[in-house]
Amino acid sequence: MAAVVLVTGGTGLVGKAIEYVIEHEPEGSRFGKRPGEKWIFAGSREADLRNPEETLKLFEKYQPTHVIHLAALVGGLFANRERKMTFLRDNMLINDNVLHAAHIKETKKVISCLSTCVFPDKVEYPLTEEKVHLGPPHSSNFGYAHAKRMVDVQNHAYKEEFGCNFTSAIPTNVFGPHDNFDLKHAHVMPALIHKCYLSQKKNTPFKVMGDGSPLRQFIYSRDLAKLFIWQMREYESVEPVILSVDENDEISIRDLANSIVKVMNHPDKPEFENEINDNGQDRKPASNAKLMSLIGDFKFTPFEQALEETVTWFLQNYANART
Ligand code: NDP
Repeated sequence: MAAVVLVTGGTGLVGKAIEYVIEHEPEGSRFGKRPGEKWIFAGSREADLRNPEETLKLFEKYQPTHVIHLAALVGGLFANRERKMTFLRDNMLINDNVLHAAHIKETKKVISCLSTCVFPDKVEYPLTEEKVHLGPPHSSNFGYAHAKRMVDVQNHAYKEEFGCNFTSAIPTNVFGPHDNFDLKHAHVMPALIHKCYLSQKKNTPFKVMGDGSPLRQFIYSRDLAKLFIWQMREYESVEPVILSVDENDEISIRDLANSIVKVMNHPDKPEFENEINDNGQDRKPASNAKLMSLIGDFKFTPFEQALEETVTWFLQNYANART
């Protein structure tokens, strides 16, 4: 029987990237569509996954054999800090409903999406897959982080009690077309792209919160999409896999802001507001050693090319993008 793949969160940044890759890679290739395979990209309009009945109905409608579970309440540092309980509860409900429905409907495989935010605040770097539960997460996003950690707990429990083939992926910061560019609630990269655009348009300074020193690993959504497709087809363990660029490819917020200025042809330099307590975590490098040892040959898109494609999409879609 050919696979029916349900992508929850299929209308978001990562979901749209998986749809793009499935449509654009040659059919039958490693990341392209396989003959007879059906892909469904579901957003919240189709089913509110916080609701158990709606979730079960979605599974009954499509009868997925495989699920890539991306749906989540997602936000940047400030949204996470302000709405800890909402991030905790919405994400716990979504994850519990999806995994329960997949169990009831005997779905062959589920890959759920965690995040490097789930890792302990105080931990020895680089982050590796077995360190997820070694201490409390950073206080700024502890609601979101605890909800996501529980997915790994659930995956193990479902496997041990019912033999389910449920696993998880841990991406670092994602960026790309279809991101959320909302100035208050977006992640750092889309927020900076939007700020830079407005500063250029209004001829005002491009101000960047914090001192620009924190380091982050960014993965292009279309690269991440390929890694999810690989994990769905070729990875069989319950243990999570970090989906990331190399840990030596960390980039500072300062360099990121400078790259955005360059790609957007902004005439001025960014201005850093030097409030250290606006920085978030200093750095949290994650190792992609496990991924690279398993996937073999994989080429990440060069950072500047990925940034250019993202900025081009943002400029072309400004009217309809999440701003
Ligand atoms: P987006 O915010 O772009 O998309 C979120 C998706 O989830 C949308 O399709 C949205 O549907 C759906 N969704 C939200 N709430 C519900 C709900 N109650 N019921 C059904 N669907 C819902 O997120 P991303 O694509 O950035 O994130 C995808 C996954 O990757 C998430 O699990 C996130 O935690 C994880 N992740 C993201 C990172 C990042 O930097 N963006 C970093 C690490 C992990 P709709 O739009 O139709 O409302």
